[in-house]
Amino acid sequence: MFYQEINVNKRGEMIAFLKNHARYNTLHAWNQSTSYANCIKLLKLVKPDDVAEEIWWELFTLPQWHEVFSDLLEAFGTKHHWQWQAGINGRSGGYVLLYQGGIKPSGYLSYCTHCGQKNYQVVPEGQKGICGRCQARSRVNFTEPDMQVFTWSGRAIDQGETFQEWSNSQLRERVELIQDFDRLCDEIFTNYVKLCQAHRIVSRDILVPETIKVLEPVI
Ligand SMILES: [Zn+2]
Repeated sequence: MFYQEINVNKRGEMIAFLKNHARYNTLHAWNQSTSYANCIKLLKLVKPDDVAEEIWWELFTLPQWHEVFSDLLEAFGTKHHWQWQAGINGRSGGYVLLYQGGIKPSGYLSYCTHCGQKNYQVVPEGQKGICGRCQARSRVNFTEPDMQVFTWSGRAIDQGETFQEWSNSQLRERVELIQDFDRLCDEIFTNYVKLCQAHRIVSRDILVPETIKVLEPVI
């Protein structure tokens, strides 16, 4: 679907691949900064014959799909040490984009072993702190700095780049990254199809608790 075989011994072929790759706005159209992207709108993808219409058009709105989707994006980020990340943009997330980012210390120094709540305060040595959320005396210090992922979501990647000054090995590295990104988009599609093939959508009634006011006689 998205992945393309590229001869990494041919400079011209690598440059053409990078320059002609589909792109999309990283943030908003008015920023005019773009990055490598692939369109995953269902309208643009070909529905396999053995997939029912209903699930094809509805699966992407269901939490079960969101879980699979975000696991795939996360695996790509982890593989590239979060220096390169895949994210979504566009109306109803119709595009998968390549972003730059990284990881940095979160600033949290302790956490609750009971509920997981993180805290900016350090716990004195040999003691346990009280958790601000669940009140349990089970807040302990992180043994290694707690890290968090950040994303430069507005940053353009290779926008308007001619690649003329790039060495062959720099080009090869970039081509392999974009191929890996394209492979991720293929995986997103195949996972979507697989989930569609293995399930059907059923309606289920659930009871939603609601707070109401009633009159109670005073005794
Ligand atoms: Zn807690």
